Amino acid sequence: MQDKLLHYLNESPTVFFILKKENKSWELEYVTSNVINLYGYSAKDFLSKKVKHEDFIFQEDLHTFRTESRQVSKVIKDEYIYKPYRIVKNNQIIWVNHILKIIHDENGRISHYYGYLNDITESQKIKKELEEHLNIINNNVLISITNKDGFIIDVSDAYCKLTQYSKKELIGKKHNIFRHSSIENSFFKELWEIILKGNIWKGEHLNIKKDGTEFWVENSITPNFDEYKNIIGFTSVYNDITDKKKISEISITDFLTELYNRRHFNTIFDLEFKRAKRDNKNFVLLILDIDFFKQYNDTYGHDGGDCVLKQISDVLKSTLKRSNDYIFRLGGEEFGIITSNIQYIGVVKLCNKLLDAVVNLKIKHRSSSINDFVTISIGAKIVKTSNDINDKTIFKSADNALYEAKEQGRNRAVIKE
Ligand code: GH3
Ligand code: MG
Ligand code: MG
Repeated sequence: MQDKLLHYLNESPTVFFILKKENKSWELEYVTSNVINLYGYSAKDFLSKKVKHEDFIFQEDLHTFRTESRQVSKVIKDEYIYKPYRIVKNNQIIWVNHILKIIHDENGRISHYYGYLNDITESQKIKKELEEHLNIINNNVLISITNKDGFIIDVSDAYCKLTQYSKKELIGKKHNIFRHSSIENSFFKELWEIILKGNIWKGEHLNIKKDGTEFWVENSITPNFDEYKNIIGFTSVYNDITDKKKISEISITDFLTELYNRRHFNTIFDLEFKRAKRDNKNFVLLILDIDFFKQYNDTYGHDGGDCVLKQISDVLKSTLKRSNDYIFRLGGEEFGIITSNIQYIGVVKLCNKLLDAVVNLKIKHRSSSINDFVTISIGAKIVKTSNDINDKTIFKSADNALYEAKEQGRNRAVIKE
């Protein structure tokens, strides 16, 4: 039976050995004959001290091996696992896994060690390659991982670098640390609904860095599962699309007023009209025009006129705050506003608010025949999206309303239903 066992041991890829104490040092007492595969030297060579294990240890790993070996006797546990190290056989490097078991005598003193050596070159190679790949990913791919409650458990260095936070600052925090104030709760609510069902969410959103700078990401959030298919967390992979967004923003932005331009008006008009139709909500278009603006330019100069355009744009922006309000400079001194889900009385209030806001800027206009200050006129069209109506008709209707407002004396709104 023992012979059989020995035979198996010698045939196995694992080298088995026993060390015993002799004159205060540890001597090899037994080693399986398969040791020859590992070093190219036989068990006899080792037992006769022609060669010893340390002779084969790769120079760079020798110091660590010796330091660890000195620790072994201090280890109370009955097992010690060395850090994988390299041995050299005929100029060929072999990674080994080295485990020592500690045997105590009846007085509690260490009497023997026995241990195993395994060639782990293959798995070590795979591990190293994997580490290299992970390293590349860590440095180049924007990733964050959360647990199922949304607390960050890991982030890539690349993401830390982009967001200006250290890993330590981010771990344990929620993603709202990056949240931009313009993003509504409903955005994240919808996102969570999707991922909590185990689905992947993809989308673009604005974020903020530690110093408050904005950045745009294309984000793909994948749920992570355990072996029982329970969600245990989420992995976000990002693309920094800030530059792309900047370029597309420039193409849809009016240079002077920084409002959306006419081109974007057409896009948003279509999208919002379709959306209002789908949600069965009212769709509202306002066209605003500065009163006697030609005279203003003639009196105060073109630069003075530009300044008024900017001031009015800013007051429109600060007056219209809802996320489905869109403001455009349609051209010259004409502005467009698209909004939805608002009733007639709401539109009246909105128009009055806008008219007041402009007058309250108190921009002197001495050549206006109707007011001391710059005023605007508004034409509004409220569309019940259940009715069959096209974009040209809507625009024409608002434009006619504006014409009527001018006719009726300016600094007022005419609303069409
Ligand atoms: P109304 O009350 O009927 O709207 O009269 P108005 O003078 O405002 O209308 P009109 O359409 O005759 O003139 C618009 C003027 O707006 C013409 C132009 O001088 C001025 N304007 C258009 N675009 C700009 C601009 O970018 N900057 C400046 N400063 N003026 C502009
Ligand atoms: Mg005009
Ligand atoms: Mg005008």
